[in-house]
Amino acid sequence: MNTIGDFHVHTNFCPHGSNDSMESYVVAAINKGLKSITFTEHAPLPKTFIDPTPNRDSAMLWEDVDKYLNEANELKEKYKNTLNIKIGFEIDFISGYEESTKELLNHFGPHIDDAILSVHMLQAPNGEYVCIDYSVEEFERIIQQFGTIDNVYKTYYKTIKQAILSDLGKYKPIRIGHLTLIEKFSKVFRAKEDYLQEINGLLDLINEKQYELDANTAGYYKEYCNNCYPSLDIMRIASDKGIRLIPGSDSHASKHIGRGFEQIPDDITLSSPGTM
Ligand SMILES: [Zn+2]
Ligand SMILES: [Zn+2]
Repeated sequence: MNTIGDFHVHTNFCPHGSNDSMESYVVAAINKGLKSITFTEHAPLPKTFIDPTPNRDSAMLWEDVDKYLNEANELKEKYKNTLNIKIGFEIDFISGYEESTKELLNHFGPHIDDAILSVHMLQAPNGEYVCIDYSVEEFERIIQQFGTIDNVYKTYYKTIKQAILSDLGKYKPIRIGHLTLIEKFSKVFRAKEDYLQEINGLLDLINEKQYELDANTAGYYKEYCNNCYPSLDIMRIASDKGIRLIPGSDSHASKHIGRGFEQIPDDITLSSPGTM
């Protein structure tokens, strides 16, 4: 198994995750033989954005950010001889909220080492926002709202394209999170078209920008997905184009650190994140 590190890790500051302490993730990483981790807690959503999930639990609270950064810094220092700990965020790209996201990045950017840019929120044709990875029931409602499942997929990949091209300032994350997250419920709701051409175009843009890709194993454990994000085939295409693949378990519990990395075969080269 690849042990360079796990660069997509959540914490007890995530309202939809477990209460496992940040230190328990560090200990789990050391026990697994990993060399590095990045804490990538969901950064708070823009203050003017209303979290569309039923429990409004998509991201950490603004008032927790300082506590999160302080605790990460303490652990970084405490474990500096055993584990390379990077401090970061998973940043939501929300179409229409680029300015507030840029402000957030300008504010916190100097205090972090690494970050991921992900799309979880889409704007529906009626202007409302939806969260695509919340639940199978919610996904069904989203399909109805968009008219067809393919409209949802098209909007998702269009939003990823916007994310790659957006100007989020000098602290914009260079790693694109779980590129095919839209497939989370694909065993229940299957798109009619295939999106390989769109994905190929996105990989070309990622390559042009010298961005990285989150090689995210969480989907293996989602019952309606059973695949990594993106698939191994797409990881190979990305790698052939020269894109760096950065392993991430997307753990929301300490026992899931490094989970699924053994399913990525050795012919796929995984790398550590570059510097921001
Ligand atoms: Zn999460
Ligand atoms: Zn995510």
